[in-house]
Amino acid sequence: MTPEALERSQSWLGKAELRPTRQRLALASLLVGDGQNRHVTAEGLHEAVLGTGDKVSLATVYNTLRAFCDAGLMQEVTVDGNRSYFDTRVDDHPHFYLEGCGTLTDAPSAELQIKSLPDVPEGYEVAKVDVVIRLRKTS
Ligand SMILES: [Zn+2]
Repeated sequence: MTPEALERSQSWLGKAELRPTRQRLALASLLVGDGQNRHVTAEGLHEAVLGTGDKVSLATVYNTLRAFCDAGLMQEVTVDGNRSYFDTRVDDHPHFYLEGCGTLTDAPSAELQIKSLPDVPEGYEVAKVDVVIRLRKTS
């Protein structure tokens, strides 16, 4: 981990007042160490952390990602029922999902317009609207 990555990871955890444990720092540096936003699955991040030589179980990776979401550092994007992506960018924004390779990326939001939404049942309000645009290759 470079000194910059360590510093970014510490300040990122610090924003949410999360204690910088070794495992949290290892995962945070893979997520935000280079200052870029990132979309990961628990499995993908687990592979990446094993690649650095750290021993962290998949369950720990998953629980840590959930803790980062609960702390407001990340948001979860569910693409289909059994696959969650975790996004370091937490503002509302649309996504492209590439069906062939299972990659999730940010979509440009400038041209996106949601003009109206269906009426919600009595006693409810819209908490969030997720926009995932699924793409497949033209052939
Ligand atoms: Zn995103």
